[in-house]
Amino acid sequence: MPLDETLRAVLACPRCKQALDYRPRPETLDCAPCGLRFRVDDGVPILLIDEAEAIRPAPAG
Ligand SMILES: [Zn+2]
Repeated sequence: MPLDETLRAVLACPRCKQALDYRPRPETLDCAPCGLRFRVDDGVPILLIDEAEAIRPAPAG
């Protein structure tokens, strides 16, 4: 089940409170400033820092 578009628009990073970058395949929600990737479990975003996966931060600039 894909993540609801309305829900997606209001989701924010639990750490920096910025908007998350939605990626569809597989569904994840990325926070570039924090370098965190949150998974989506059957349409339910798991916005827990403890559950997040580390990603490489985007290059500055
Ligand atoms: Zn963040």
